[in-house]
Amino acid sequence: MEYAGRSVGGRGRRVVVIGGGVAGTSLVVQLMASRDAAGAIASVDVVEPRAVGWGLAFGDDDPLLMCNSAVNVNSLRADRPDDFAMYLRECGWTGRAGDVVPRGELARYCERRFRAARRQAARWGIPVRHVRGVVTSVRVREEGYRVVLRDGTEVAASDVVVCVGVHRARVPDGFAAYTDHPRYVASPYPSRRLRGHVPADSRVLVLGTRQSAIDAALLLCGEGHQVTMASRSGRLPAVREALREPPAALPSLQRLVRLDPTDPLLAQRLTRLAVEAIRLLDTRPLRRQTSPAGDSVERLRQETTLAESGACAWAEISVALIEAVIELFPTVRPERRGELLERFAWFIDRYLTAMTTVNARRLLRHLSTGALRVSPAYPRDIQVESDGWHLRWPSGARESFDVVVNATGFELPWLYWDGERQALLLDRPSPDARVVDRLDDELRLTLRPARPPERIWVAGVATHVRVPFSNHLRNVVRQAGWVAGQLSRSEGAR
Ligand SMILES: Cc1cc2nc3c(=O)[nH]c(=O)nc-3n(C[C@H](O)[C@H](O)[C@H](O)COP(=O)(O)OP(=O)(O)OC[C@H]3O[C@@H](n4cnc5c(N)ncnc54)[C@H](O)[C@@H]3O)c2cc1C
Repeated sequence: MEYAGRSVGGRGRRVVVIGGGVAGTSLVVQLMASRDAAGAIASVDVVEPRAVGWGLAFGDDDPLLMCNSAVNVNSLRADRPDDFAMYLRECGWTGRAGDVVPRGELARYCERRFRAARRQAARWGIPVRHVRGVVTSVRVREEGYRVVLRDGTEVAASDVVVCVGVHRARVPDGFAAYTDHPRYVASPYPSRRLRGHVPADSRVLVLGTRQSAIDAALLLCGEGHQVTMASRSGRLPAVREALREPPAALPSLQRLVRLDPTDPLLAQRLTRLAVEAIRLLDTRPLRRQTSPAGDSVERLRQETTLAESGACAWAEISVALIEAVIELFPTVRPERRGELLERFAWFIDRYLTAMTTVNARRLLRHLSTGALRVSPAYPRDIQVESDGWHLRWPSGARESFDVVVNATGFELPWLYWDGERQALLLDRPSPDARVVDRLDDELRLTLRPARPPERIWVAGVATHVRVPFSNHLRNVVRQAGWVAGQLSRSEGAR
């Protein structure tokens, strides 16, 4: 098998990383942080259409787009939780480790640490290359893998790590027929495209009321547009300072990891242990740490005040709770996992993915000037004419908008196995392909019947088939660390 004149059968692993966002850069950084890599790895190719580090989630330099997780949980190295803070301080940052920073800072950090890892690799004689392109499939052959790019180029590999993140925007209810319309913007990102697409002084309908929709509303209000946010629930996320390290150890959440996964009362026990953790941090009843307001704007106002006054212990357990559930889940039967996620969806959707006080204050400012409105309902009877969108609200009221921005979030990434072509597909399935719905505890794929697991790993959001909260950055980094450990402990080429 040829790649740039060399054979894959030489000494050391020839690793191809698909995707150079958080998981991909963290993998390379953690791989080159271990001397073991010097003996085990022959080369690393990162296939990524954008600049490495500048993935969809963080790769936008607009200062209005803030991280949701704090500096102290955003390190690219599992063994150095303060690495991001150290990097920022070297750049002159004077904030606290529990603060949030603009997402572009995280992308810049990924890029810088990737470059440093590449220099380290060069000292060991390991080339680390950035191959610009989009991977469509990985062909599985007896002698190794061939990673196929959209332009037809193939990259040979002995080991592949799939780190693709989210990339396909969801299609909002009622808008499937309009996704190519010039007055429809499919995603708020990149922010430059959004700005370029919306003419001055527009009336904009933002579909969604969660994180992407908040980003869209802040970007558009900042440009002077008149914005209405609308979703089926009409609910905004709860408010907290940031998704950050808990201020103290939470023994009840350590017990949660060891719960009996077959216990019929598992859901009740989870709730009890989570409440015990909150009580350890704040003895105030939960109803005094949340707002009962029915109106979403009033609720936002009250929750912002609560979060700023520190009466928000539920938020302080979030990181530890997410990580305890991630640890517990592999022991729970898959159907049971689905039931649990559904049962707690109200808490996950509103509280575990709460907004930061920074964004809450910005929203409140636009709400108070009248530039922003949150609709309690979702539009129906949607039509688009040459002069704009015309729709009806469930109340019967009619309204028109110049532009619709879809900010309902992204589809989860799925992988497909085409047994006929012996290929792992990264994009749309072929008619003969089946969805890959299993991932083993080493994050490796088993694709061929009666064959051992492939030397194909998955890290990051695409591990959702096994891992809950697969987009939690600190867990993405842990996964990248495990895979890097497995690669650097590998013996020679196969
Ligand atoms: C807008 C947004 C904001 C977020 N903010 C936070 C936050 O503050 N804190 C937090 O914990 N989590 C946040 N998340 C979740 C975030 O997805 C994860 O934290 C983290 O980025 C996941 O890492 P990843 O490598 O899986 O995905 P990404 O970092 O998105 O990287 C995936 C990369 O794969 C590339 N790629 C995709 N398909 C292909 C292909 N076929 N071939 C080659 N390359 C490909 C993409 O170009 C991209 O660079 C956010 C997500 C989004 C969408």
